[in-house]
Amino acid sequence: MLNPATGAPYESWQELFASNDYILVLIMFSAAAVLLVMPIFYGIKSYQRFYPKSLRPEYMLYVGQMAYFQSLSPLEQKRFAIRCQIFINTKTFIPRGGNGFVLVPEMIAKIAAAAVEISFGFPKMGFEHFSRILIYPSDYYSRITRQYHKGEVNVRGMIVLSWASFQEGYAKDDDGINLAIHEMAHALKLENRIENGDYQFLDPQWMRELREEFKRLSAMQSPMETTIIRAYAMTNIHEFFAVLCENFFERPGTLQQEQPQLYSIISKLLMQNPLAQKDVSMASSKAYALSDFSGPIKRN
Ligand SMILES: [Zn+2]
Repeated sequence: MLNPATGAPYESWQELFASNDYILVLIMFSAAAVLLVMPIFYGIKSYQRFYPKSLRPEYMLYVGQMAYFQSLSPLEQKRFAIRCQIFINTKTFIPRGGNGFVLVPEMIAKIAAAAVEISFGFPKMGFEHFSRILIYPSDYYSRITRQYHKGEVNVRGMIVLSWASFQEGYAKDDDGINLAIHEMAHALKLENRIENGDYQFLDPQWMRELREEFKRLSAMQSPMETTIIRAYAMTNIHEFFAVLCENFFERPGTLQQEQPQLYSIISKLLMQNPLAQKDVSMASSKAYALSDFSGPIKRN
């Protein structure tokens, strides 16, 4: 930068300010202001992302209608709402399939609520590995399996859902079939194995018990014929866990009556008990203040 008066470079700030080169002074000031303000601006933005104070009204409209949400105490409801907003703030929701199928707040709210529902017993568990949620209008064709799918979860950090099947799952809320819970259960189990902030939160003792039960039932001639748990559960341990979770949330009373042992294992694994939501509350929640449940979605 040359001083027009002397033709030589500026040697000091004083010389620059005294030079009457206002445009240059203005540019320097603006640059300094931007450099100072930008980090503060991004700092505030990132704080708001991880520490929302509430759930935005356009989402609350749908979350407030959920049976699970309504079964919670007012304090737990507030915590649930904040957890939904953190989930929404930290994931990208992508509509797929074209033909005017667009993302609406109802989809975002209900998908977030399903994720928070299954993980509500774990403080700050936020599906860290999963950053993208793909939503198809209805069941979609997979070129890999050459079949139509309702949903899937993959190791690359994606949760894929058919919106029609998602809606069906909550419309009939006592048949033990719920796509959202099923896929979130797969995501939860996968998340448990991936070394990140959300890692090994499922108690190994109860995972062992679950595998034992699965082995015991697999060894039977027609294991699930007389129970409410659909036969698909016996495909493998992952499907067993996912189908049990569906029953655990959709018809906890029946599951507990028919399979008290399985109910108890899932309840201990997920650290929550839908049958005693208001009284017993989450096993872990009493030890934490409300503020502990927002913030970066990592386990302590
Ligand atoms: Zn499955």
